[in-house]
Amino acid sequence: TLPRLYLDHTLCGEIDLSREQAHYFGTVLRKRVGDRVRLFNGRDGEWAAEIVTTDRKSMRLSVGEQLREPCPVPDIRLLFAPLRKHRTSTVLEKATELGVRTIQPVITARTQFSKFNIERANAQITEAAEQTERLDLPDLYAPVTLYSALADNRHLLFADEAGCVPMVLPTLEGLSLPLDVLIGPEGGFMEDERDMIRARDDVYPVTLGPRILRADTAAISLLTLVQAKLGD
Ligand code: SAM
Repeated sequence: TLPRLYLDHTLCGEIDLSREQAHYFGTVLRKRVGDRVRLFNGRDGEWAAEIVTTDRKSMRLSVGEQLREPCPVPDIRLLFAPLRKHRTSTVLEKATELGVRTIQPVITARTQFSKFNIERANAQITEAAEQTERLDLPDLYAPVTLYSALADNRHLLFADEAGCVPMVLPTLEGLSLPLDVLIGPEGGFMEDERDMIRARDDVYPVTLGPRILRADTAAISLLTLVQAKLGD
């Protein structure tokens, strides 16, 4: 299949790639003049393009026909507490593959890593979106407090490892989009945080089974179940 590139650019006419994009297509993928690639910008679907000029540092594409119409992913928002570096990378990549529309890091009392590198995170979700054949990028925001994240009145599916709470699938039967999915930090929620979450309207605590999952495992598992039921 033709390689794909996310470009925050109008997809028509001729486009000059950045130096690193030219390097990726020219040197890494060894694409030459006349070769075709696929472009998406998150708004206009996917378009074919042909390489019209290239040298070691630059590359010009000529945009051709539209290959796929825009198709927004379901309105699912992931609320998660930033984790140890590689685990946050896993959550960002898998949430992108699993079709979330929005990724909102939340800072809780036990969040270990509140210095969330949004540039690095954006690069990771862009790469994941290119690989997973998405037509858009998830909207990624800077971390907010748990309190402010809970202010929005959307259905809230809360991965709660404490207490006796319903299984996910029966809960999803009664749910619809837009939907928030909340995963806690490696250290878990404080009791007062749990009380605040449960006091919210429209909150659905669910269990992912009797074992304590790592936060990245919980995020992937719950998003997979949500996608299986509500995704498309
Ligand atoms: N409280 C946990 C403990 O006692 O070790 C620490 C939190 S757990 C490592 C990280 C997060 O993953 C939790 O806050 C929760 O959101 C989710 N999680 C882990 N296991 C879960 C389970 N069995 N059911 C629902 N959520 C779970």
